[in-house]
Amino acid sequence: MRTKSSAPAPADAPFEADAGGVLTINLDALAANYRRFQDTAPHAEVGAVVKANAYGLGLKPVVAALAEAGCGSFFVAEASEGRAVREALAGRADDVPIYVLNGLMAGAAPAFIEYGLRPCLSSLAEIGEWKAATHLPCAIHFDTGMNRLGLTAGETAEFMASNTWSEGLDVALLMSHLACADDPDHELNAIQRERFAHIVDTLQPRFPRAVASLANSGGAFLGADYHFDLIRPGIGLYGGNPFTARDNPFETVVTVEARVLQVKDVPAGESTGYGASSTGEGVRRVAVLAAGYADGYFRSLSFPSLPGLQAQGGVVALAGRIVPIAGRVSMDLIVADITSLAEGAVSRGDMAELVGRHVPLDEVAKRAGTLGYEILTSLGERYRRHYTRGGRIPSSAADNNMGRSVS
Ligand SMILES: *Cc1c(COP(=O)(O)O)cnc(C)c1O
Repeated sequence: MRTKSSAPAPADAPFEADAGGVLTINLDALAANYRRFQDTAPHAEVGAVVKANAYGLGLKPVVAALAEAGCGSFFVAEASEGRAVREALAGRADDVPIYVLNGLMAGAAPAFIEYGLRPCLSSLAEIGEWKAATHLPCAIHFDTGMNRLGLTAGETAEFMASNTWSEGLDVALLMSHLACADDPDHELNAIQRERFAHIVDTLQPRFPRAVASLANSGGAFLGADYHFDLIRPGIGLYGGNPFTARDNPFETVVTVEARVLQVKDVPAGESTGYGASSTGEGVRRVAVLAAGYADGYFRSLSFPSLPGLQAQGGVVALAGRIVPIAGRVSMDLIVADITSLAEGAVSRGDMAELVGRHVPLDEVAKRAGTLGYEILTSLGERYRRHYTRGGRIPSSAADNNMGRSVS
């Protein structure tokens, strides 16, 4: 059996016993999710969106695992992230295309050139600046209805009508982005697809080596006519559900656990935590957990919900059962109500699952009033991070019976 790919650094060793929160990232599940996209779009290349520190999971190990799974194109938001991808791939695949989705800011071309990054040019002004700086490959981003980044309809028409724009331009990628891919029934999907197909039909003869890309994670499941040459998933790779109202086809990649610091009884009629918001009728037993909003566990998961907020309140898995939060989530601590569990079921030092197979990412997001994307990119710096291979269940979770399913 293979073991953890990243042992704790020696300097951290004295603090291992003190780890309050543990974040486990299953790189095999990540690779399985990559293959799921390849199976869904067998005739397209599957690139990977690794912006924002690979959606909070850690750029280096994620990029290495994806490259090993066969990924040959990466997308980031900013050039500095592109440099980090280039460095993560050094010696493995030095010429892999790295696309920068936010495009080219004035004066930024030298950074792109130095690290061999490709800007996704989003206006005629950016195209002009790139051409003036270099003839290296680039992408052109067309806005087909999202009205965010990309050449406007007017600019697109101008670009397609005149050859002078394409002179001296090495276009490696023609791209657009879907606004509503999370909702397969939304009418804007087909409108954007048709607009993009027209652009590709017009421009691919002019740029014979350019590949075309429209679909993100959700778009990959809209049908083969959305795949074009390359799909660019993000959230699905990391185990998030790309759909608002469909089952999640992806494996769980991220497990977040917090240690039980104390188990105690709260006298009848007394409250827990800031604001004294949670009061019980009888005696309650609670577990105090070592994580909080500083770790990215949203304060909107407090229960009862915060004043003015319509939210359900968070739950955690402890001793193989799902239990509610009692009171406010604070900066470093959460209190869970374990009155429903057998006496002695939870002890000091156990781990509670905050996000994972028993408390799915998208359920946490829904309860917090947000998306899995925001939960992942908010994961704090304080967690001990473990990257696992070989389908191993994190040892701390296994000790805590968390390998079993929750009824
Ligand atoms: C973030 C992003 C993606 C990935 O989207 P997911 O929904 O995470 O799959 C793809 N393309 C663009 C332009 C993006 O900004």
